[in-house]
Amino acid sequence: MTPAATVAAGHGPDRPPGEGPTELLRRLRTGADADPVTHVERVPARAGEQVPWPRWAPEELRAAFARRGVVAPWRHQAEAADLAYAGTHVVVATGTASGKSLAYQLPALATLLADPRATVLYLAPTKALAADQLRAVAGLELDGVRPACYDGDTPRAERDWIRRHSRFVLTNPDMLHHGILPGHAHWSGFLRRLAYVIVDECHTYRGVFGSHVAHVLRRLRRQCARFGRTPIMVLASATSGDPATAAGRLTGLPVAAVTDDASPRGGVTFALWEPPLLPGAGDPAVGAVDLAPVRRSALRETAGLLADAVAAGVRTLAFVRSRKGAEVVAATARRALDEAVPGLGGRVAAYRAGYLREERRELERALLHGDLLGLASTNALELGVDLVGLDAVLICGWPGTRASLWQQAGRAGRSGGEALAVLVARDDPLDTYLVHHPEALFGRPVEATVLDPANPYVLAPQLACAAAEAPLTPADLELFGEGAKEAVDSLVEAGALRQRPTGWYWRHRERPEVDLRGEGGAPVCVVEAATGRLLGTVDGGSAHFLVHPGAVHLHQGVSYVVDSLDLADGCALVHPEEPDWSTHARDVTSLTVASVRSYVDAGPVGLFLGEVDVTSQVVSYQRRRISSGEVIDTRPLDLPARELRTVAVWFTLSLESLASAGVEPADVPGALHAAEHAAIGLLPLMATCDRWDIGGLSTALHPDTEAPTVFVYDGHPGGAGFAERAYRTAAQWLRATRDAIAECGCEAGCPSCVQSPKCGNGNNPLSKPGAIRVLDVVLASLGASDGSAAPLPRQGDRAAEQARRP
Ligand SMILES: [Zn+2]
Ligand SMILES: [Zn+2]
Repeated sequence: MTPAATVAAGHGPDRPPGEGPTELLRRLRTGADADPVTHVERVPARAGEQVPWPRWAPEELRAAFARRGVVAPWRHQAEAADLAYAGTHVVVATGTASGKSLAYQLPALATLLADPRATVLYLAPTKALAADQLRAVAGLELDGVRPACYDGDTPRAERDWIRRHSRFVLTNPDMLHHGILPGHAHWSGFLRRLAYVIVDECHTYRGVFGSHVAHVLRRLRRQCARFGRTPIMVLASATSGDPATAAGRLTGLPVAAVTDDASPRGGVTFALWEPPLLPGAGDPAVGAVDLAPVRRSALRETAGLLADAVAAGVRTLAFVRSRKGAEVVAATARRALDEAVPGLGGRVAAYRAGYLREERRELERALLHGDLLGLASTNALELGVDLVGLDAVLICGWPGTRASLWQQAGRAGRSGGEALAVLVARDDPLDTYLVHHPEALFGRPVEATVLDPANPYVLAPQLACAAAEAPLTPADLELFGEGAKEAVDSLVEAGALRQRPTGWYWRHRERPEVDLRGEGGAPVCVVEAATGRLLGTVDGGSAHFLVHPGAVHLHQGVSYVVDSLDLADGCALVHPEEPDWSTHARDVTSLTVASVRSYVDAGPVGLFLGEVDVTSQVVSYQRRRISSGEVIDTRPLDLPARELRTVAVWFTLSLESLASAGVEPADVPGALHAAEHAAIGLLPLMATCDRWDIGGLSTALHPDTEAPTVFVYDGHPGGAGFAERAYRTAAQWLRATRDAIAECGCEAGCPSCVQSPKCGNGNNPLSKPGAIRVLDVVLASLGASDGSAAPLPRQGDRAAEQARRP
């Protein structure tokens, strides 16, 4: 972010002098009947710890960084740089704005200066980030480095020059996959001298996409190895649980992690806020039938806080997930302020992507001068402007990851001053858990970036690409890891590869067509009907959920409504419209167990990981009022059923154990169903995924397990690592699930604990007390067993017998 785009907000004209975050928070929480604040965490300011430049860093490089204002590195930067320079693959996983780029620039550029032949390849998930990084490296003005971006936008005329002369090439995984690796003959000069591969923002390589990128990196390593070259991998990640393991899976190499952030930061008082239950909430008579909102909606609560803060003269920014939501928050706050003091509402505005540049600058100016005190925004602010120095930040709903949370909270805090950040919980089990478990936000991170390079739906096409680049040898199979031999055999059988004594050869003239970002079938194009303009694509796996007829589809903050979905053509026609409702598709699902990969025998409880076949059909969708969450209606859909071979985690319980825990036979289905919903809701705590990445099924008697069973599965063909992460962390995951249900103040279950917006059964039956008992049995049994998993071979078609309790 350039300094020119920074708007530093000064004191508001109405600001009571000397009011700090503590007084402000007291002001916000007065008037509520029950205290909505579940926790206040004071995150102290940190001074930052600088260390001397590493001895190996050349003077020329130190001087270049000094010109940029970096007089010495922070400790974590030097630590990571030292490891990389000494030849250790390393991941640096520290907070936003902790200067991760210096950690990789330092060893990479020092090497380029010391060895005039060496080269560096930098990978970013987006072209924009690569362009930013290019500006930073070029700005150092180092002789002979000649940094250059090589992506889809690079003119043909420049490509040849870059291949020959640039020693610091910046690109993205897609270009590496589609351009550089297939054209490796043209890149041999660059690859045979490759010293470092930098993988920036590596936490974005998760799920199926991450699994593809993992193999693209293996293909790159293979090409380098042909020249006897082993480049050092330097990765940068947002803070996450177990970054070394994630980076190891991504690269296929042992990776050291540097996680101790030594950069300075301002102090912030962080409040966790749970909107109160509405009167009459949790009445069993209305509870489980449909999604009646029983807490005040997070949007309303955020609007109320914004109005109170603005009335007190406090410069405040509210982050809301959707553009419509941001507008509802701004309008509601304006109305409340105008009722109190006519005209005061004019000091609140909504801010979003899609505004013209002049409109945005005008809003920024108004905020800077104090004409404007409150803004409700989507994260569009990330795009063009760095608004800092606000007095308070309101975050409406868990933004999905700790990295986003801190990025948003980081907007608060004038220089030297303390600021207030408030996380307002939405009605979602994960939000409920987090506001009752501050240690999950402020302690060590548990959410891990997961991927599964052994996914056969990823491995086989990637091996085909590799074979098209150069014949595969038995030694290569080791490089591509678990399942590679089976995938190669299946490619031979399918006629894609031919086996010869020297290896496996790609048989076709054309290269295999593999899209790194395509998941679960051909992508569906989203087209504006009136203009024929292509807005974007939705992956085939989620098209039924996201772009069914009548769906409200958000694209870059603009809302469209789907007119029709043509599955044969892979095309959804839409028109721009901003209705007052959101849409939520529902599906019905059945599931059979194909094989068991691993299990834990815990007496009356069994815990399993294995392959399953899921058949699901999106059958209807609900329209819900955005401002209140109220259900308007449910409309039927006519879409075909789809089949999915994927990976699932599941647990079984004996009927006796349920009975002795006090779960009546009639309550078993509702108890399992409620536990399943909450368990799905809590999985993003353990693995970076969202509800769309996972599905679930529960039943009082499953034919394959012959027991009451709860399944949670990856929503992508072949699995994406989420179910596996759930299996590996089952005790922690199910403990959090149990706590989220128990700590929700409702009586009979609500969207904040056991109801799900995606439920195919209209959230019926659900038993909240039963779910707690089920999870207590599971946790007690898992705790009592030695917890060791019994791995089974991944291959072979083990029939359902294996799924029965051992
Ligand atoms: Zn509840
Ligand atoms: Zn359900």
